[in-house]
Amino acid sequence: MKLHGIGASGGIGIGTVVCVRARDLDYGKVPYSGAEQEKARLHQAVEAFIARTQAMADQVKARVGEKESEILSGQITMLEDPYMISQMEQAIDSGSCAEAAVDTVCQTFMDMFAAAEDELMRQRATDIGDIRTRMLGILLGVEEVDLSALPAGTVLAAHDLTPSMTIGLDKEHVVGILTETGGKTSHSAILARALEVPAVLSVPDVLEIVKDGMTAVVDGGEGEIILSPEQAQLEDYQARRAKWLGERELLQIYRDRETRTADGRQVALYANIGGVVDAQAAVHAGAEGIGLFRTEFLFMDRSALPGEEEQYEVYRQVSQMMAGKEVIIRTLDVGGDKGIAYLGMEAEENPFLGHRAIRYCLDHPEIYKVQLRALLRAGAEHRNLKIMLPLVTGVEEIRGARALLEACKAELGAEGKAYDGDIALGVMIETPAAVLIADLLAQESDFFSIGTNDLTQYTIAVDRGNAQVAKLYTVFHPAVLRSIRQVIAAGKAAGIPVGMCGEAAADPALIPLLLTFGLDEFSVSPTSVLSARKHIADWQEEDAARVTRGAMELPTAAQVEAYLKGVQGN
Ligand code: PEP
Ligand code: MG
Repeated sequence: MKLHGIGASGGIGIGTVVCVRARDLDYGKVPYSGAEQEKARLHQAVEAFIARTQAMADQVKARVGEKESEILSGQITMLEDPYMISQMEQAIDSGSCAEAAVDTVCQTFMDMFAAAEDELMRQRATDIGDIRTRMLGILLGVEEVDLSALPAGTVLAAHDLTPSMTIGLDKEHVVGILTETGGKTSHSAILARALEVPAVLSVPDVLEIVKDGMTAVVDGGEGEIILSPEQAQLEDYQARRAKWLGERELLQIYRDRETRTADGRQVALYANIGGVVDAQAAVHAGAEGIGLFRTEFLFMDRSALPGEEEQYEVYRQVSQMMAGKEVIIRTLDVGGDKGIAYLGMEAEENPFLGHRAIRYCLDHPEIYKVQLRALLRAGAEHRNLKIMLPLVTGVEEIRGARALLEACKAELGAEGKAYDGDIALGVMIETPAAVLIADLLAQESDFFSIGTNDLTQYTIAVDRGNAQVAKLYTVFHPAVLRSIRQVIAAGKAAGIPVGMCGEAAADPALIPLLLTFGLDEFSVSPTSVLSARKHIADWQEEDAARVTRGAMELPTAAQVEAYLKGVQGN
């Protein structure tokens, strides 16, 4: 039997199901023993909660990492909040026992956070839910599920996986996770990914369907679960698991290494992110910086623009998480495939060629300046932020953005606010115009980053989202490869660094070419960091140069691709 859900942590897990069902937290029969007594019980429970959570946080810090442990320390901060505690005490004063006080106050906070527009705020609802359950467990003396003592080869099935449950998990014994709720960006999903346990979340009614002791296969990449597989199926998945484990094991040696070619040339290997949550994954994956922060995600799935403070807070958090490492933040890349309904942009006949990205922002300085001010301020402390402009086609766009940036600096200075006065301003090279005038753009920008996703579509005139022409969309087209070579050469001639943040940067077949052209920085998704580091380490300069010469002589995309993939297979 096959079930489907959200693949939240990749890989294949095969094992025996252990169901975690909710504990009985019914406090209906708990008597009210007076305000003094109930408040004393409340405070004892808070202390016990803090002690246990701190112990778990220390354990996670040692086993997983500092960032992951902050999810738990965050719960302590939430519960210690004087406002939260005073609300609980007020409930006790009006006749509630400690359990009822915790329950009602947590419920109110959960409802409030769950209704927030901001994804990070919504995630707090899960944390408060976790606090509520654990505080009730402590007050009622009901033991928490001991997930650290599960038998080897466990596939854990639960309604929801709370942060504290995930953290107690014994990674060696748990081979897969199934839940009825939760999404790709939930805290639990992040932790499951950090622990590298395959997880499929949001499988409807999974606790009704699975039984303790059943054999289950969890395919976290595909978001599939196979219950009681047949022998042939089981063997197939066993082979796939062995392959996944083998590859993962081999890649681990690259985690804390520098990124170097076989003959020692060092390049930068960064990660692409869409928000704070991904930044945690990037740090864990061993990225040396952030090569592309797609800020439009901050503007999507909401009903109004994020204000300066909200943006500042997000950029500041990422800057802090990456302190000592570079973070390239792309300004709002709206339009084309990236619609934002509440901006009320007019429907266009050719949206990819329309009023979008830097064009839209320069025409809306009232929107753009909010983002630029937030970025300038967020970079003040660690000085590691860089600003990148999307879809640039002409020098005047850099000048326009720079003028606004200078105006923002002057305003911030007059307001006495701290900002990074030396923040770098670079451009994405993702249009043929930008390629052809790369030498001119280089005179006025501090760095380049090649966006091959768009560069491919504009160079060969193939819509990147149109399935009818998908077979024509290829980065191996000689026009795209020549463009990449030309841009890197222009950056080198002007003495500015050139990176690549399009998907092509993670394609193993292209690595020899990018190394030979002299790319300074590869920016890939967090899950591709280790494999990119490995592929870069496989190449000697001389071999890469020979392969590049071979590829650049071929006349068609199909020939180039076959040649490069053939080389790679040897
Ligand atoms: C690109 O175009 O290559 C790129 C990295 O940006 P996006 O995919 O967000 O357009
Ligand atoms: Mg793009």
